[in-house]
Amino acid sequence: MPAGLLELSATELHEVLGGPTLIHLQGKNPQPLFVTVLQHGNETTGWDAVRRLMKSHYEFDQLPRSLSILIGNTEAAKHRLRRLDEQLDYNRCWPGGAYEDSDVGRMFQQVTDRVQSLSPIAAIDIHNNTGLNPHYAAINRIRPEFLRLASYFSSKVVYFTMPLGTQSLSLSRFCPSTTLECGQAGDTHGTDHSMGFLETCLHLSDIPTTPIGDDEVNLFHMVATVRVHDEAFFGFGHVPTDIAFRENLDVLNFQELPSGISFGELNGGPAHPLVATDINGADVTKQYFRFDRGQIETVREIMPSMLTPDRRVIQQDCLCYLMDRVHFEDHIEVTDHDPLPEGLRRSDRPGEPSL
Ligand SMILES: [Zn+2]
Repeated sequence: MPAGLLELSATELHEVLGGPTLIHLQGKNPQPLFVTVLQHGNETTGWDAVRRLMKSHYEFDQLPRSLSILIGNTEAAKHRLRRLDEQLDYNRCWPGGAYEDSDVGRMFQQVTDRVQSLSPIAAIDIHNNTGLNPHYAAINRIRPEFLRLASYFSSKVVYFTMPLGTQSLSLSRFCPSTTLECGQAGDTHGTDHSMGFLETCLHLSDIPTTPIGDDEVNLFHMVATVRVHDEAFFGFGHVPTDIAFRENLDVLNFQELPSGISFGELNGGPAHPLVATDINGADVTKQYFRFDRGQIETVREIMPSMLTPDRRVIQQDCLCYLMDRVHFEDHIEVTDHDPLPEGLRRSDRPGEPSL
């Protein structure tokens, strides 16, 4: 570990490192745990968890297993941004995504080759989000060891296969991998939780591949992205805008909602104020919402995530994602196929999970 690095906050790393940096620390068990932090520069929980873990537990003691740490977008971190305007989103640049030929894509190919050669026990990518969301883990393959790894962090697990080029999807080809969503950056509970998870992983002798039951993990699949219609004016609470979303809309995150739940009131504007699209980009709004009673109402059971009161996020990214519960015992992969066949490669689309 470069001297003094653990004393630095995320914003200070760039001065010292000058860019993305891969650090290998030797532990008692040589098979490393691979941890990625700061792929998004303003998502600081991962770095804070790593530095606290190292300082509190391993300043003088040997690590129980080797630890490889990738510190990602230090430049964006310096500016407290997810990414700079001229930068690609780092978490879309891993092998199998649309940006393999970019500078970041080539660098991540090298990192992937290096990490694969070390046969890590698992790959962990740590993120934050906006709005009130519980901590949850995301996985890209429905296999017992992936579910078990995720379950050490949270009983709430999200399965996704798009967008391509995310680290956890890319590395899922050769080791159990997960993306941690640790709530809002700067929240100490998120740092405590991810630090505890890393400590657990460092002490695992292996990740069992024995079957895991539906009752141990609540698995959800992202089925749609919901955006506000470009021409709809929106606000929160009692406001005269086209859409007056209910206040505290984000308390609905990760709640399994029945049909008939109102997201807010309608005072005019476009006939379809919200637009839901499935992972292929098809318009599926009518399957989830009705707008004919002066309200935005759900028309089937659904669980939203990433609902946020942040207008900028809603305008630039989306209002929320919709998820369905997966009874995964029927879906466990039994073959060891490569989840990214050539034909699946296609470009990233805006509004996909902002992991
Ligand atoms: Zn992120």
